[in-house]
Amino acid sequence: MGKIITVASGKGGTGKTTVVAALSSCLAVLGHKTLCIDFDEQLKNLDLALCMTDFAVMDFMDVIKEQNDLMTACSESPMIQNLFFLSAPAISIPEETDPAAFKDMFAKIRKNFDYCLIDCPAGIGRGFQLAHTSVDMSIIVTTGDSLSIRDANRAADAIRDMGVENIRLIVNRLKPKNIKKIRINLDDVIDTIGAQLLGLIPEDNNIFLALHENTPLILYKKRLSAYDFLDTARRIAGDEVPLQQYKR
Ligand code: ADP
Ligand code: MG
Repeated sequence: MGKIITVASGKGGTGKTTVVAALSSCLAVLGHKTLCIDFDEQLKNLDLALCMTDFAVMDFMDVIKEQNDLMTACSESPMIQNLFFLSAPAISIPEETDPAAFKDMFAKIRKNFDYCLIDCPAGIGRGFQLAHTSVDMSIIVTTGDSLSIRDANRAADAIRDMGVENIRLIVNRLKPKNIKKIRINLDDVIDTIGAQLLGLIPEDNNIFLALHENTPLILYKKRLSAYDFLDTARRIAGDEVPLQQYKR
């Protein structure tokens, strides 16, 4: 049975979409059939991060409304084998949509994929709640600063309130000059948010360059964050991979 993993944060701009695209690509490269879903109805930019703009014709509401079966609605990456994408709908999820329909969709996803990563909208609104209908793990993405950490803490509380126990943390955009300070605070951060650390991702200009060249990060240059994303994906898949000491 596949695993459903949400990627959330309190604050916008911490790197959720980047993390979903990179981790999904890494899981696929590692041989796992992986689907990623854009649940960010307003921003909808996961297609860009996956270099799959213009590939997705259908969205998850087509599956929810049972207008199309799951595998017809998902688009396959032309660049990475095993990687699939389901986009957010053009209009907001209608108010009357039954949350049970999301449960059904996630059950189908578990049957067809090894992993499904969900790019949640910022905040803890309706899209965020529907994304957490049926979840095996929730990853909170925060940067090292205290504003982002406080928001991540609120998101973790909201996720816990929805009954999710397996909450993990990714600290993104670590800068070498701040690493010493963050290292001292890291244990505090983990305690505050109450989530075990899953990965540390450095600030990496290759993310910008890869996007600019419309190439998935993992195929662009195997440097810096690409290694850290790969290590993080291996941890998701159950491998014991020690955390790097930020020297890359
Ligand atoms: P969110 O989905 O949480 O709003 P995004 O993934 O869109 O955040 O990231 C916001 C911006 O930060 C994007 O321009 C993205 O390219 C950049 N970014 C994210 N993570 C990193 C990183 N580790 N290093 C450099 N830039 C990053
Ligand atoms: Mg986003």
